[in-house]
Amino acid sequence: MKYAKVYLERNIGRGEREFDYRIPDDLEGRLSIGDRVLIPFGKANRIEKGYLVKITEDTSYDPARVKDIIGISEDGIGVSERQMKLAFWMRGRYGGSVARALGTVIPVKVKVTPKESRLVRLNAPEEIIIEHIQISEHKKYKARARLLGALLKEGKIPEKIIRENLNISPQTIASTGKLGLIEVVKTTEYRTPIKIRKNTQERFRPNDAQQEIIDDIIRHYEENDHLPCLVHGVTGSGKTLIYLELSKYAASKGKAVILLIPEISLTFQTVMRFYGYFGDRVSVLNSRMSRGERYDQYLRAKNGEIDVIIGPRSALFTPFEDLGFVIVDEEHEDSYKSQITPKYDAREVAGELCRMAGAMLILGSATPSVESYYRARQGHYRLYEMKKRAKGASLPEVLIADMRQELKDGNKGILSNILKEKLSETLEKKEQAMLFLNRRGMYGFVSCRSCGSVIKCPHCDVSLSEHRGGILKCHYCGYRSRPVKLCPSCGSPFIGSMRMGTQKVEEILKEEYKGVRILRMDADTTRKKGDYERILSVFANQEADILLGTQMIVKGHDFPNVTLSCALAADISLYAQDFRAAEKTYRILAQAAGRTGRDRKKGTFIIQTYNPTHYSIALNKKGSYRDFYEEEIKLRRLMHYPPSEGLLKVLIQGRDPQRTMDISGELSGQVSKDHPLVRIIGPAEDVPGKVNDRYRWAFYLSCRETDELVRIKNYIEDFVDAYFKEKKIRDCDIFFEIL
Ligand code: ADP
Ligand code: ZN
Ligand code: ZN
Repeated sequence: MKYAKVYLERNIGRGEREFDYRIPDDLEGRLSIGDRVLIPFGKANRIEKGYLVKITEDTSYDPARVKDIIGISEDGIGVSERQMKLAFWMRGRYGGSVARALGTVIPVKVKVTPKESRLVRLNAPEEIIIEHIQISEHKKYKARARLLGALLKEGKIPEKIIRENLNISPQTIASTGKLGLIEVVKTTEYRTPIKIRKNTQERFRPNDAQQEIIDDIIRHYEENDHLPCLVHGVTGSGKTLIYLELSKYAASKGKAVILLIPEISLTFQTVMRFYGYFGDRVSVLNSRMSRGERYDQYLRAKNGEIDVIIGPRSALFTPFEDLGFVIVDEEHEDSYKSQITPKYDAREVAGELCRMAGAMLILGSATPSVESYYRARQGHYRLYEMKKRAKGASLPEVLIADMRQELKDGNKGILSNILKEKLSETLEKKEQAMLFLNRRGMYGFVSCRSCGSVIKCPHCDVSLSEHRGGILKCHYCGYRSRPVKLCPSCGSPFIGSMRMGTQKVEEILKEEYKGVRILRMDADTTRKKGDYERILSVFANQEADILLGTQMIVKGHDFPNVTLSCALAADISLYAQDFRAAEKTYRILAQAAGRTGRDRKKGTFIIQTYNPTHYSIALNKKGSYRDFYEEEIKLRRLMHYPPSEGLLKVLIQGRDPQRTMDISGELSGQVSKDHPLVRIIGPAEDVPGKVNDRYRWAFYLSCRETDELVRIKNYIEDFVDAYFKEKKIRDCDIFFEIL
């Protein structure tokens, strides 16, 4: 008798565990680990879906009461054993349920009917066809004659075209088929996500700096020394070509490559460059794709029909048999951390996946995360550096505009004098400019110029943002309020959005520069599929002078005619309540600087700020990441923040404010009793303190080793299971996040 351990696919929350089932005779030998099976569940024997995680010879339960597996779920896809292992690793590291972890590693749960196309082709030798054309013409079977004639010329034609363009009825196709002259064949047609096809074969070979890195990585790879690599190359140094060459190498060895990119919007050009070499053997995943499109990419990977998949963090779970590299471009990006449970870090998971699959992890960035750079300095990553731009361009001149001074000098506008001057020059020379407002979502908050208070959401305790017509909206819960005329705190009428949205800037620019062609790129203008690509290609074709947008425009793009870029309000990101605020500010500015002067023309980058001496702003003038890193790591050490120590956030969320607070106190007290060596910060009300009418309290644990924190997390999970059960607490939940 064989038994199986099964996890429910459905998330049943606390008390989740594996359940034992018997494998009936007719299924024996047909089931394997990772299969999605149907099982009777509970007293009512409701049919549920679950994943088979283990096959055993016996069960610790009374065999008479163990139920049979019903069968393999037909509408679904199982997981590979490696994916299953990865899911359990993620569940162990980041908490949450196994169901959630499994749900995360399975990119597509449900089969999607393949898109079929029907082709009509000849089924008889040419002479016979010609003979039949003559007979048909003679008998006045015009349609048949036309059909055979067309097929004789084309070989095979989609049925749809035959009906719609040749105007031939299904009856004619059927009757001609009965004569044995033609046949209809079905082919599956993959839904392809790459819509724009241009032949962009790489025109150049790697330069010395690139070649050295490529050779060194391949040498270590071949020596089976798979230590992760960090490629730190300034903006425009040509990291993409390294990725491309490594992918070619992997493909030549029959190995696949996963290339993670922050958001598909940023990779239009990257995708094209890979497409130029790999053609249909490269594919893309993104959140805007239909289920069918995603499913097809999954199948293609599984069937070995693609060599490279490019996508956001979820592309990690593409089921390749044989993996060569996982490349994480722009590795510093926030989007590599999942915001939903399990709150995994794609770079860490990629590292684990590489260990399991014998692959190699490559991280790349112009401004690496402080964590990764720290690890490289400690010898956990092999560090490669490229200090020069590939095309020989120099890094741009950086100018800092002190907005406090501008105000004193009587300039109340949002465009500094130096920006106006440089923008005029740029437009005159028929060159292009990129202007951006950092920190999407924070722009346009309304504050009082007399007392400085910010208008907040009554449910979420976050600032509301101003939209068209002065309507205020909460980005967490969707709360809306009418325009506010007087400050609720001090009654002052001097209230408004100090920092405006891109739309407002667009109006100002249009007034200042008559006839200027402006493209706006923000959440509003990029709602529909294809919007990003459209805006970017218009700008690339130089059909616009200014690209104005949120920070989504500062990353990755390569427009040779851009010679001016400007951060309109550089300090907004400094106000974020986050120990990484300085790092983020530095990075956004460095990336923005990287958009200008990429070709032969000299570029200028202007930073408009109220904090011109803050190191995260001032050090951009020097353009050396290393200097910034040294400053930043000193502070992190001083504050015991990552990466010098591990930091775990424990979030308690509940319907009752008092109870939520009490439980967080109880839990943190328990941790400090049982783990006296760990530092505890808090508990305190989280920011925001309330989301969707659920109160949030958090405390933070810090200690030298992240692994120790993972052990404490497990301890808290077990403790909470018992504690919640004992106290019958049902309206509270607990979440973890490694920061
Ligand atoms: P990064 O990702 O490091 O910022 P990219 O990969 O986008 O840089 O490359 C920057 C620019 O340099 C691109 O226009 C690219 O086509 C060009 N480039 C890269 N490598 C070379 C090379 N070896 N020779 C000439 N141009 C190159
Ligand atoms: Zn006020
Ligand atoms: Zn709200």
